[in-house]
Amino acid sequence: MKSGTRAGLKKCKRILVKIGSQVLNTGHGLNNRVIERLCDDMALMRDRGREFALVSSGAIAEGRAIMRIGDVKTALSKKQALAAIGQGSLMRAYTDAFRRYGYTAAQILITREDLDERRRYLNIRNTFSSLFEMGAVPVINENDTVAVEEIQFTDNDMLAAMILPLVEAQLLIILTDIEGLYSKDPKAHDDAAIIREIPELRPRDLKAFGDGGNPLGRGGIGSKLQASYRASMLGVPTIIASAYIPQVISSILEGKEVGTFVHPRKKAALSQKDHWLGFVSRPKGKIFVDEGAAAMVLHKGKSLLPVGVVDVEGSFLAGDPVEIVQKGGLAIAVGLCNFTTEEIIKIMGAGTKDLALILDYDCDEEVVHRNNMILRKEIL
Ligand code: GLU
Repeated sequence: MKSGTRAGLKKCKRILVKIGSQVLNTGHGLNNRVIERLCDDMALMRDRGREFALVSSGAIAEGRAIMRIGDVKTALSKKQALAAIGQGSLMRAYTDAFRRYGYTAAQILITREDLDERRRYLNIRNTFSSLFEMGAVPVINENDTVAVEEIQFTDNDMLAAMILPLVEAQLLIILTDIEGLYSKDPKAHDDAAIIREIPELRPRDLKAFGDGGNPLGRGGIGSKLQASYRASMLGVPTIIASAYIPQVISSILEGKEVGTFVHPRKKAALSQKDHWLGFVSRPKGKIFVDEGAAAMVLHKGKSLLPVGVVDVEGSFLAGDPVEIVQKGGLAIAVGLCNFTTEEIIKIMGAGTKDLALILDYDCDEEVVHRNNMILRKEIL
């Protein structure tokens, strides 16, 4: 479903709501009033047939409050410990708030790595679908306790954007401590005006917004726009709004003019698989191609054949995502490779009819099939 208008949001059945650390934490512990108000609002909407999943930050901020460690620079291992301390209270707050209405909250903790591999990613989708069938409200956070830097999400805005297709949500609501996107920094300029509609979010708009970040969580307005962009590419609208507005979620779902509305893109939305390839998976290697193959991939919509491959880098298995790189080092596409690194070394430059002979089995003709490939220019 594509909602290009606020009135169209009335039809969204499943909604992913992302709530940031700044709104969930008073500085001295969890802001239970905000949590209760948001859960009241969602429970009432749930009674009317809407379904919700939440991405909730706040574990580390809550851990800091419990251990009385202020907003000071903290080593990663200590933050991991603080997340372990805070996540329990965070979850208890949601469990209690939803239970008052007879709904059950379900905790899901994930790392970036869990989404890297296609099979694991799809398994998580099955878990979500079972939870919705059971009527539970999934509450998702990064598994900060085990996430070291290389496997961290940039922040929970990005986590929300990456799991949108898994949750199969038709709307993303990002709740924060400001009313939406402003023309200028509202803290520094009195004449800053709120931008109500973004009909088309372009990559260059993303670059125009700096990211001040925030001291409690990780994401700032720049990352909220990045997340909105990724949602829009999937055909999903985003509302960025203040969590402090009374009944903010139901107001949005009634089509009222709340926050900033980032429209879904008008062109055909990316498939879930392409979204995963472009925005979620991390390539395990590089396949370098000659000019002819690059032109076929870039301009003729063709698959990549072994004859156009000139070099390979990295260590990957058949089915892993790889980057296709043209002469000069520019990555032009990303796709699922049908061969292992060792096999590519054997078949690069070879003609299609010689492949089975070289590898001694009846293999695919394409190194990366067009159906499993997305061009970089489509996603940046
Ligand atoms: N996962 C972190 C937490 O729960 C927050 C990350 C973020 O703010 O984006 O504390």
